[in-house]
Amino acid sequence: MKTLDLVIIGGGPIGIACGLEAQKKGLSYVILEKGPIVNSLYNYPTNMQFFSSSEKLEIDEIPFISNEAKPKRSEALEYYRRIVTSNKLNMHLFENVTHVEKVNSLFEITTSKDTYKGINVIIATGFYDIPNKLNIPGENLAKVSHYYNDPHFYAQQKIAVVGASNSAIDAALECYRKGAEVSLIIRGSEVGQRVKYWVRPDIINRIEEGSIKVFYNATLNEIKPQEIIINTPDGLTTIKNDFVLALIGYKPNFKFLEQLGITLSDDDKKLPTYDPNTMETNIANLYLAGVICGGMETHKWFIENSRIHAKMIVASILEKRK
Ligand SMILES: Cc1cc2nc3c(=O)[nH]c(=O)nc-3n(C[C@H](O)[C@H](O)[C@H](O)COP(=O)(O)OP(=O)(O)OC[C@H]3O[C@@H](n4cnc5c(N)ncnc54)[C@H](O)[C@@H]3O)c2cc1C
Repeated sequence: MKTLDLVIIGGGPIGIACGLEAQKKGLSYVILEKGPIVNSLYNYPTNMQFFSSSEKLEIDEIPFISNEAKPKRSEALEYYRRIVTSNKLNMHLFENVTHVEKVNSLFEITTSKDTYKGINVIIATGFYDIPNKLNIPGENLAKVSHYYNDPHFYAQQKIAVVGASNSAIDAALECYRKGAEVSLIIRGSEVGQRVKYWVRPDIINRIEEGSIKVFYNATLNEIKPQEIIINTPDGLTTIKNDFVLALIGYKPNFKFLEQLGITLSDDDKKLPTYDPNTMETNIANLYLAGVICGGMETHKWFIENSRIHAKMIVASILEKRK
């Protein structure tokens, strides 16, 4: 088995940026991705529009041209796929990394298909694989989903959307516009302040005109096959319901990080330890890149501000070689 300079786990935008930079600097590398190219983006809602303008999503200043200032998911898939194919990046798809172990000074990486040895490893696995759960009775019913894809499915159905951030608000508006009867269940007293600035007035107007029903300061208490029980400031309320979209965020795979020996902060943020100048963790030659760096603060890092990790990490690897 050949020993590579660098093994990159995760083929999202940031894993791809790391591979591109490694290739440019002459490092031997592989990107291991458990799904298709940019798997997380592939699984975003079909009609999703980024909050960033396209130039902010560019890798290595390769122009990202989109129809509107803020690109759609389909345009982002085109862009990142073209980066992989036109640069002939060494990317292995549908190859899930199941175990990483440091043996002496080398990493041994086991996947669903093969094993690899690497001098350096980058973890760029994002946070989209593990949804936050409501932890209430009925959450495992088939009518409950923690991901939202397309509004057509919900036409003429009574749906409850749990959450107040971009994913929940986009889903509520789209489904309402395709004829669903939407109830929004929001834990706080208002629609999230981070909701895209051009979407927030839209949802507030729909709520105020009564097109979308909202329960503020409310939580779901129980999900039943044909109804839901909501905990409101006025007590428990039961309403009829066909589907629940629990869009209350996602979290990184902390178990994976801990198994590797990466320390996490003791508080609720679970921030992984890394040097902000190099992105190297408390384990030598093991780096973090992309949104995974934020722990539970999943809004802290995004493509726009984490694409720089690629150059920082490769610079650190090259510096150590001197
Ligand atoms: C709805 C939504 C809208 C967003 N809009 C924006 C925006 O407008 N602008 C912006 O900058 N950011 C935005 N973000 C955040 C942005 O999508 C993420 O910042 C971006 O995907 C992060 O890239 P990443 O490479 O760090 O992680 P990801 O894109 O999540 O990539 C991680 C990859 O690792 C793979 N993986 C995970 N575990 C393994 C394993 N064990 N083995 C192999 N592969 C594995 C996954 O399949 C995935 O492809 C948005 C996020 C969401 C959810």
